[in-house]
Amino acid sequence: NPADKNTWFGHPRQLSRLFTTEAMERFGYYGMRALLTLYLTKHFLFSDTTTTGLYGGFTALVYLTPLIGGFIADRYLGSKRSVKFGAIMMAVGYFVLCFGGDTAKPHAVIDGQRYEVQVENFIDRPTSTGEEVRYVTTGSERLKIKGNDDGSVDLLRADNSVARNLPKGSFEPGADRNSLFVFLMLIGLSLVTVGNGFFKPNISTIVGSLYAQGDRRRDAGFTIFYMGINLGSFFSQLLCPFLADNVGWWAGFGLAAGGMLLAAALFQFDGGRLDGYGERPEGADPSRDLLIYGCAILAVPAVYFLFTNLMNATAAEPGSGIVGYVMSLPLMGQVLFLTFLISIPGILAWSFFKGSRQEFQMMLAAMVLIVFNVVFWTLFEQAGSSLTLFADRNTDLHITSNWSISAGQTQSFNAIFIVLLAPLFSILWNGLARRGLEPPIPIKFGLALVGVGLGFLFLVWGSQFAGSDFKVGIWWLAGLYFIHSVAELMISPVGLSMITKLSIARVVGLMMGVWFLSISVAQYVAGAVAQVASVETVGGQVTNLQVSLNTYLHVFTIIGEWAVGFGVVLLLLSWPLKYLMHGVK
Ligand code: GLN
Repeated sequence: NPADKNTWFGHPRQLSRLFTTEAMERFGYYGMRALLTLYLTKHFLFSDTTTTGLYGGFTALVYLTPLIGGFIADRYLGSKRSVKFGAIMMAVGYFVLCFGGDTAKPHAVIDGQRYEVQVENFIDRPTSTGEEVRYVTTGSERLKIKGNDDGSVDLLRADNSVARNLPKGSFEPGADRNSLFVFLMLIGLSLVTVGNGFFKPNISTIVGSLYAQGDRRRDAGFTIFYMGINLGSFFSQLLCPFLADNVGWWAGFGLAAGGMLLAAALFQFDGGRLDGYGERPEGADPSRDLLIYGCAILAVPAVYFLFTNLMNATAAEPGSGIVGYVMSLPLMGQVLFLTFLISIPGILAWSFFKGSRQEFQMMLAAMVLIVFNVVFWTLFEQAGSSLTLFADRNTDLHITSNWSISAGQTQSFNAIFIVLLAPLFSILWNGLARRGLEPPIPIKFGLALVGVGLGFLFLVWGSQFAGSDFKVGIWWLAGLYFIHSVAELMISPVGLSMITKLSIARVVGLMMGVWFLSISVAQYVAGAVAQVASVETVGGQVTNLQVSLNTYLHVFTIIGEWAVGFGVVLLLLSWPLKYLMHGVK
């Protein structure tokens, strides 16, 4: 009720505290995300394949744990206790990531012999400036390493004549790294994964609980909340890479930890604002709490085990068909895919037998949209992995001739565009709705898929203007993020409300879980896609910038075209879907 004195921008005043808490939590998460792939490739010197595989598995689990965290809050802890507990776990996780030890040392194996590689001008920072040159000393000669387009490697003398040509496969780059620090890094990520399960779904639930059933401010409230998310992300995606760049990796992760701690404090000391919201469900037994916290802490080593399993899994030859593909995946991938592939027909069968004909048809429409949702996030979530590596390697990061940003900071484009565009979209949808012109949900989804694909094709198109250094101007990357942000606003908030409108009431929580499961599967597939875009590195630097540019453009073209294709299919399907949705818009 806008006439109410106790409101905040016309919304319940509790929203302000949830807004600041979530802004700081996302500050931590996205600050860490801006650093993670660069940290893995440039500090730990992991190959692209290992980096993007681990990144995909980590983000997949980050989106999977909310299923369990939401369930635990509903049944036992209540949202508020869950948020507090999750906040502390995540803060500790970011803090642990500060301990990275010394940078790993690069080496190369040539003819079965192991040589140390000296990287000149190598800076232990997520920066793309500086021309790194790699040398190897064999015998008494110090030779420059140069990668060729065909995958072979030349060892050059001081006068740039070729001393040796190593055919593809006979040169193996590697790195020596301290296993204690790898262990700590994985424990840090595991803590964040489990903590996020307690935090993320439950703070959103509290936002929902501020509004009575049918309160028309609800959607606007979630839009404000979504802006808080991106406001927090924006600042940390600028600041954390800046600190990592100028002070050290530890400072970047430290700031993420600080932001998360502030979120915890804001929520803990709320001045009684949130009294009565997100409390323990009636009849739940408080004496169970300790057991739950204990189990959550025990889940950390379990997640750690999954991560090490993922990193050590050698890529098995994929078998034929989808079953063959799933069976060739590491344990985590198999579990994810099987859960997704079983839950869809399972829930549909249940609604066929238990629901009315109309309810079943609406559930069917929701499931179709959920499957297409996987395609969207698979492309969108390249942001933290392949697109950040692309920014580092093949993007000219100069904003003006003497001012450039760092690769990790390019992730902030998405956040700032969302902050700017979200209110415009709110106005646009409302205006269209008043004229009866608001596009139906499947059309919005279809346009989002076309958009996420076009974003990649836009970058590919712009790459023809790349300089002789094989770097594409930063505005092309910014353009991709702009198109992706428009697309995100057509699918992400729309999808959440779609679930609440199409689901049979008794299973709406479960369907929300399947929605997040589809994003989780997408994160995993996104990691696999980024793995296809792997390029060879020595000492954390690519050996051949031209090969790397071509590899990225090849993969970006394929996924861009596929997404546009899926989008068009969905636009065509919008007719039958409209029939199945029985008037839900
Ligand atoms: N950027 C939003 C967030 O972090 C949404 C991400 C998503 O749902 N995949 O909350």
